Amino acid sequence: MKIEIDPYSGFCFGVAGAVRTAEEELKSSGNLYSLGNIVHNEKEMDRLRNKGLKVIDHQTFRQLKNARVLIRTHGEPPETYRTAFENNLQLIDATCPVVLKLQKRVKESFSEAPEEEGQVVIYGKEGHAEVEGLKGQNPAKAIVINNDLKNLEKIDFDKPIRLFCQTTQDVQGFKALVNEIQLRINRQGCGGNHHFSAFDTICRQVSMREPRLEKFSEKKDVVVFVSGKKSSNGRYLFQVCKKANPRSYFVSDESQVEASWFNAGDNVGICGATSTPLWLMESVAEKIHSFYK
Ligand code: SF4
Repeated sequence: MKIEIDPYSGFCFGVAGAVRTAEEELKSSGNLYSLGNIVHNEKEMDRLRNKGLKVIDHQTFRQLKNARVLIRTHGEPPETYRTAFENNLQLIDATCPVVLKLQKRVKESFSEAPEEEGQVVIYGKEGHAEVEGLKGQNPAKAIVINNDLKNLEKIDFDKPIRLFCQTTQDVQGFKALVNEIQLRINRQGCGGNHHFSAFDTICRQVSMREPRLEKFSEKKDVVVFVSGKKSSNGRYLFQVCKKANPRSYFVSDESQVEASWFNAGDNVGICGATSTPLWLMESVAEKIHSFYK
């Protein structure tokens, strides 16, 4: 049996950086709060909790005083930074540089928008931490839309539109949305002097995974995809594997791997989401090896 771990699977550089920062901080002080889970992977979070990390929600954060709190890769709205200042909280900011750049662009667009009566639209999932961070740049004005075309009713097609997207959205969905908005603008007859700017702010660390994963899965007899159940990126990428290779299985850890999935001599591929730690994929590989010892 041959087993290969996909070299492109696992933590993206943003998540890897946040986990590294948390570990360094915990090593030096043994005490650190994290505003939300650093990764959508319970096994990795258990490992960090065992090192002393305490995960808190926004409600607890608002009541916390004189402590050190890590901001995860998704970033936070300005309000969080104000609360930290007022409560003497030291923020360890692990916001991904890609997200920081996007926040800056969205903020700039909001400050330019009133002059031209423009609208800043974010293509993303309402309630997602990254979207909250973007929306928070101007909560009263931000328009968040998803794939549901009903959402487009929130947009005034007579006024300028600047469209951004959550870094983990899918490229095809974004392209379809851009086409639909352009169609509606044209339909209203304001296409000529209308200002519509669409910025593809999808992170390539995520979007490049799909074609790579597809190729990786096609070449294998069996694919074992490792991810936390709560990871939307994981659920989506697993469907990519499943489509490319029907003998694909989703597991959260090595205990869920079943011997009946494999035949001796199979070429097995192990892969995962951007939140899947390498050590977890290695444990799964180890388990599969153990069936044939
Ligand atoms: S997926 Fe991209 S934007 Fe998100 S944390 Fe990773 S590198 Fe940063």
